[in-house]
Amino acid sequence: MNEQGLSEKKIFSLLKGAKSEDMDYYKVLSSMCTHPHRIALEAHRLFLEANLGDLGLFPGTHGLENEVIKMLGELLHAPMACGYLTTGGTESNIQAVRAMKNLGVARRPHIKTPNIVVPDSAHFSFDKVANMLGVEVRRAALTPEFQVDIACMEKLIDEESVGLVGIAGNTEFGQVDPIEEISELALERELFLHIDAAFGGFVLPFMEKTYPFDFDIKGVTSIAIDPHKMGLSTIPSGALLARSPVFLDCLRVDTPYLTTKTQSTLTGTRSGAAAVATYAVMKYLGREGYRKSVEYCMTLTGAVIKGAREIGIEPLLEPVMNVVALAVPEPDRVRETLLDKFGWHVSITRKPRGLRLVLMPHTSPEDIDEFLKDLKTVVEGL
Ligand code: PLP
Repeated sequence: MNEQGLSEKKIFSLLKGAKSEDMDYYKVLSSMCTHPHRIALEAHRLFLEANLGDLGLFPGTHGLENEVIKMLGELLHAPMACGYLTTGGTESNIQAVRAMKNLGVARRPHIKTPNIVVPDSAHFSFDKVANMLGVEVRRAALTPEFQVDIACMEKLIDEESVGLVGIAGNTEFGQVDPIEEISELALERELFLHIDAAFGGFVLPFMEKTYPFDFDIKGVTSIAIDPHKMGLSTIPSGALLARSPVFLDCLRVDTPYLTTKTQSTLTGTRSGAAAVATYAVMKYLGREGYRKSVEYCMTLTGAVIKGAREIGIEPLLEPVMNVVALAVPEPDRVRETLLDKFGWHVSITRKPRGLRLVLMPHTSPEDIDEFLKDLKTVVEGL
């Protein structure tokens, strides 16, 4: 650290330099985040100092957080659901598994090493869960359609299992697991069921085709949904919702020197600004606004699939949402060449290896035309 402070001019010139190295989401087809909506940005700026870790000092901001939870509960078919705004899908997943563990072990004290069964497609946040919580995370194989294989999931359940996880919009393929079937299994075996809808939560409710995934399904006990992905809010904005308050209550710790007596969140200090940004953008767009945004992304998705087929490339899966996996030859080389030669950021699916694209609102139809042209050049040059 420098001994004396630098001038404002110098600081901002340093910031400008760093910012110029960042991507402005142009040519970014690998990210599940995007530019926050203008309204979210403006709202965020107004509440920069608001700390949701000390609710008593910021009752206005906390009121808006509660409004967001209410709106999300309505969206996910449980208007009475409880919850709080997290830093994102990772925190929501960690907290959900923590609750399943606490409640599961309290219910069945014989459990020594609690386990959960998740689809093999589960996000890497579940690896963090395993490491942090001493919960064994068992990964069930996928069907050829990249949905969890129910029979395989069932086989992995034993006396030490506390919960199951289903994914509504998996990270690599955008596929939705058969949540109703997982729910039946959960009810039958008296297990909790957490749905990771970090990405799909702001997509599925706004699509023409319906995919059951939320609290409408009886066995679903908690859901992760991220406003900072397709919700168009600012970072960090995630949400954890639970059907019953017991789920959050079992996470409480005493907070002796704060304005509240207890806290069930993972982090202490929490961004009020991001919560207010989420409130503002949800109110501003309404269901109609999100429907349009999802429709736009699905149009881009359709254009990618059509264009890819015209150059002889098939998708690994007919896209369910705005995530595309393409069966290109030598995907790693194609990815590297697209970046080095043309500046496109795309990613890779693991099993099988393919080219993964996420079609977010920051991409234009013209970008897609250009991308397809570049993809053709790269693939023909292999
Ligand atoms: N769950 C799913 C399905 C995701 O796709 C992601 C991130 O892409 C996460 C969880 C983790 O979210 P975050 O990076 O906001 O913690």
